[in-house]
Amino acid sequence: MRYSVPVLACTVLLGTAAALTAARQSPSSSQAEGPASPDVRRRWHAGVARVNVTPSEPIFMKGYGSRTRPSEGVRQELYVKALALRDETGAVSVLVTSDLHSYTRRMSDTIATAVEKKHGLSRDRLILNSSHTHSGPALTGEELLRPAEDINAEQEVVIRRHTARVLEQIVELIDHAIDALAPADLAFSQGAAAVGVNRRRLGAGRRQLPGPVDQDLPVLSVRAADGSLRAVVFGYACHATAAPADYQIGADWPGYAQAALETAYPGVTAMFVNGCGADCDPAPRSVLDAPKMHGDVVAVAVGQVLRRRLRPLTGPLTSVFEYVDIPFERPPSREELHERLETATGMAARHARQLLGIIDRDGKLYDRYPYPVQVWRFGSALTLIALGGEVVVDYSLRLKNEYGWESTWVAGYSNDVMGYIPSRRVLMEGGYEAGGAMVNYGRPGPLGTAVEEVITGKVAELVTRAGGKEGETGKP
Ligand SMILES: [Zn+2]
Repeated sequence: MRYSVPVLACTVLLGTAAALTAARQSPSSSQAEGPASPDVRRRWHAGVARVNVTPSEPIFMKGYGSRTRPSEGVRQELYVKALALRDETGAVSVLVTSDLHSYTRRMSDTIATAVEKKHGLSRDRLILNSSHTHSGPALTGEELLRPAEDINAEQEVVIRRHTARVLEQIVELIDHAIDALAPADLAFSQGAAAVGVNRRRLGAGRRQLPGPVDQDLPVLSVRAADGSLRAVVFGYACHATAAPADYQIGADWPGYAQAALETAYPGVTAMFVNGCGADCDPAPRSVLDAPKMHGDVVAVAVGQVLRRRLRPLTGPLTSVFEYVDIPFERPPSREELHERLETATGMAARHARQLLGIIDRDGKLYDRYPYPVQVWRFGSALTLIALGGEVVVDYSLRLKNEYGWESTWVAGYSNDVMGYIPSRRVLMEGGYEAGGAMVNYGRPGPLGTAVEEVITGKVAELVTRAGGKEGETGKP
């Protein structure tokens, strides 16, 4: 498809909105606050909306450093979707999922500030998750474009224009999701899908090292007051890198998974939450057949979960959000960077020049980064931990082991994707995720080995403040 996609304004998914409105007005909605089943009281209101964020003109793409020119067409349209939830205390929380490569801190702050102003929604009540599609447009929320992208001034204008439009669309999208709030029931269960493999199994030279994966498939169902399915939110920990590194805009396997579910369940909004799949790729990959094939597998696995009995979720939804400083190893000095420039070319040279620019501006390089950690706790039955950055699998396995395999959902790529977040094991073993990838992100160097304990320590503090560990009850 060429760029014939109409520029769509933010639109509520009409079927869903109409159904929710009908549910609100139907006789059965008079029982909305009464018992939903013999043992569960309906306490939730939910609203869903979506917006088409497909670029309307050729634009540089994000994900692969090998691309040298703007996009040439559209393979799949891109959507951002929002699920607004109101619990029995009246508190509103919004989960935003997206067919976008990533959010920067500045992008998230722009959205969160606007939403707080309009709706009084505090930062802890908003999760912004990105699918990390490697076939999406470059977006920017930072002063400097990252050194991986050799982007000229004309293209920078396109990127800034598209970014501003997408941010406006997301703010409007959240308005629509909140407007659509209507009585609902939530339920949760874990499934599994064998799509992702550890990257160490995909290349020569590192096969002897451990290759853990997290193939869990958390599924949250949202049903209207009449019992009909309105939305399904599912998670998986794997890169959206099944498509070849070509010049076609697309949402990769998560886009196909959502589309397959929305075809199988007409009127339902399917939403993908990316997990801790930084060191995980789909296999096979880089072939045209792969994205749809993997998307279909995940959709079938979600359908299997939906056909069994999911555990009803009660409120309240307690939420906590904080930044914690994660440390870099000793950053390079001005002299070291000048030395690098004597031999470096391409991306490495741009990286060195970028760091020198920061030293010129600020007098020094930063040695830590404010890392976002967010926890949502649904009653005592589900804890959703949303982490920033490209988080390796060790974090989700460790946190589920700590807080409960059946009741813990760990998302990565949330709120700010500032680089890879390796575990201590990955840092000790080395490789791309341990340090090399930081060049792509324009960071001063690898993270320090304390990073895992700093992040999991902050998660422990926030889980306690949000209501405690699995099986515990009570409010913070
Ligand atoms: Zn990545």
